Amino acid sequence: MTGEFETIRELFAPLAHPEWGRGLLDDVAVVPSRPGYDLVLTKDALVEGVHFLPDDPLDTVAQKLLRVNLSDLAAKGAEPFGYLLACGWSPRCGWSEREDFVLGLARDQATYGVMLLGGDTVSTPGPATFSATMMGWTPKDSVIGRDGARPGDRVFVTGRIGDGRLGLMAAQGRLRLDQERLDALIDHYRRPAPQWAFAPMIRELATASVDVSDGLIADAGHIATASGVGIVLDLERTPVSPAGQAWLEGRADAQDGLLQLATGGDDYEIAFTVRAEDEDRLRRLAEQIHVRVTGLGEVVAGTGLHVRHLGAPVAVETPGWTHD
Ligand code: ADP
Ligand code: MG
Repeated sequence: MTGEFETIRELFAPLAHPEWGRGLLDDVAVVPSRPGYDLVLTKDALVEGVHFLPDDPLDTVAQKLLRVNLSDLAAKGAEPFGYLLACGWSPRCGWSEREDFVLGLARDQATYGVMLLGGDTVSTPGPATFSATMMGWTPKDSVIGRDGARPGDRVFVTGRIGDGRLGLMAAQGRLRLDQERLDALIDHYRRPAPQWAFAPMIRELATASVDVSDGLIADAGHIATASGVGIVLDLERTPVSPAGQAWLEGRADAQDGLLQLATGGDDYEIAFTVRAEDEDRLRRLAEQIHVRVTGLGEVVAGTGLHVRHLGAPVAVETPGWTHD
């Protein structure tokens, strides 16, 4: 039994919003407008062989799907409430794989307070493909764009950078570290941890903000471009996990290692700018909610993203991951 209607009725309907999803029995979902708020939407797709590996368990694929979208909303300061889901099942997605997928959705719905609103279900002879449209609210006119950075602002990033790239290498068997570290990295690659609790801080203090998904340097560069400013980053300040530190120590060229971490994708952290006078308050508030924030550099007049290592300029050929 893997029919479209059985899948919707048995597996997806229990995840639906009790009113807005209409039991997944209608053609549409209906979300009442919320006075005083803006509706903020984002969409990300995951393709087997590109964003997840063919042997990744489908519960983790479902979690990654929600989390990469939640990361975009967090970077804008938005609070998520629900999502639309498109599933393109490949031949390997039998009933029990679909059950696994739904288990992952259910787990993260509980963690992040979001509910399923509707979607589409198809089969494909090609690689499995999943896409979600995540929706959230921000108080009216308070969404934080990429375009608000001004010279003198400080540049920060949440969490740690590089575990996404190392996690992919670990999952592909291309990394030599002890097993505990490898397992933690693989789990991070499969199930990144979006900084959703940080959204109110972004709203309150960030002048510009971006989700770090393609590579820290590439994504910080998006702020520079959108804001019409220059950004100077000090590579040695890149926050690295203990596993990342262990990996760096095994490398002859520290600068090249750091550059690989700062240009690898799949981190799902938030890079943002704050006014210099807000820096202390940011550090205090972030500590209260136990989110690590690290200062990386500053916004300057001019254009472009400039990387330094121990004071010397670094040429960056590929700032991050791009699809053709
Ligand atoms: P259509 O004929 O317009 O494609 P469907 O029969 O595919 O409509 O969908 C019927 C209902 O099931 C709709 O409410 C739709 O939103 C919901 N639905 C279909 N697939 C999914 C899914 N993957 N996740 C959530 N809801 C879904
Ligand atoms: Mg359909």
